[in-house]
Amino acid sequence: MNRFLQGLADKQVMLVDTTLRDGEQTAGVVFSNKEKVRIARMLDAIGVHQLEVGIPAMGGEEKEAIKAIVDLGLDASIMAWNRADINDVKQSLDCGTDALAISISTSDIHIKYKLQKTRDWVLDSMAKAVEFAKKHDKYVSVNAEDASRSDMDFLVQFANRAKEAGADRLRFCDTVGILEPFKTFELIKELHESTGMAIEMHTHNDFGMATANSLAGVKAGATLVGVTVNGLGERAGNAVLAEVAMALKYLFGIDVKVNPRDLRELSEYVALASGRELPVNIPIVGTNMFAHESGIHADGVIKNPATYEVFQPEEVGLQRQIVIGKHSGSAAILAKFKEYGINLTQQEAAELLPLVRSAAIDLKRTLFDKELIYVYEDYKNKKNKSKGA
Ligand code: MN
Repeated sequence: MNRFLQGLADKQVMLVDTTLRDGEQTAGVVFSNKEKVRIARMLDAIGVHQLEVGIPAMGGEEKEAIKAIVDLGLDASIMAWNRADINDVKQSLDCGTDALAISISTSDIHIKYKLQKTRDWVLDSMAKAVEFAKKHDKYVSVNAEDASRSDMDFLVQFANRAKEAGADRLRFCDTVGILEPFKTFELIKELHESTGMAIEMHTHNDFGMATANSLAGVKAGATLVGVTVNGLGERAGNAVLAEVAMALKYLFGIDVKVNPRDLRELSEYVALASGRELPVNIPIVGTNMFAHESGIHADGVIKNPATYEVFQPEEVGLQRQIVIGKHSGSAAILAKFKEYGINLTQQEAAELLPLVRSAAIDLKRTLFDKELIYVYEDYKNKKNKSKGA
């Protein structure tokens, strides 16, 4: 039994990572097949439950990458993405994934303008593709694309039809990212109560709400959350793996049983592979998460890290740093020089402080260790000179 089936049996809240599918759909992002394999391995090592790894209908190298990931024999479930079309499903069957996502739009705006079909056509196409996949014993997620803009009565009808066809869950897609947490809660609660179907949240970050909306969905009864590393994905991206995992743990008290220690390393690797640098201020794994500069904060953290930190940096593979700059206070100066093996007196720290601040203002940044030592040596030299004079 793989990790995903075990999680289903335990009725656990689980993560579905789609870095290799929706994440790669980010405009301008392409992963090589080697990178795809490595990312899949890293996600599996962290303990993500299901990996959506690509679109077999694209053929060629995409199929090769999916097969290579299947061949790794990971503990995570491996899912392939399909349109609601039997030919797509056949391509997925070739790749040997244990799980299939079958996707079709449910909003009238998509049905009318994109598909140029009817609601009945949508229901029939979905049911045919699902039945075909279930005949081959696959776990099936039915994806309601643009669910957040769909008529609720139709969405319920769609979910019930999917269930009859044998689908294992419904992926609720906020395809254009127009939800907010309160609305999300209402919609998911209604959908869950009227269908009893397992629901996966798939949210987009157009208004900066992707992670918040996915959590609101969980509060309303969703048991699966779609995420990507670094929030890659169409336009503003998807809910972020690190944020969802840690927010579920620390804000909701829900343990998704991932090991977060390698999250930073994973973020760095995906940043490199996607050619998108990691901003220093990103939540959970950003370099600045545990960097303290301002006098009051640094003083608090030196006395007890819990004054300004919610969890320990080591939990996500980071380190605490007291950085010295324009906003530093004398407590941080004392602590920093102690790290260098220099025990300053209170008076020395107080006298160094304005020198450190003006150096930081001149440089418009915090100071490196070496620069701090230079400031200290200048200060010492001047002091000795004035003594000698
Ligand atoms: Mn998407």
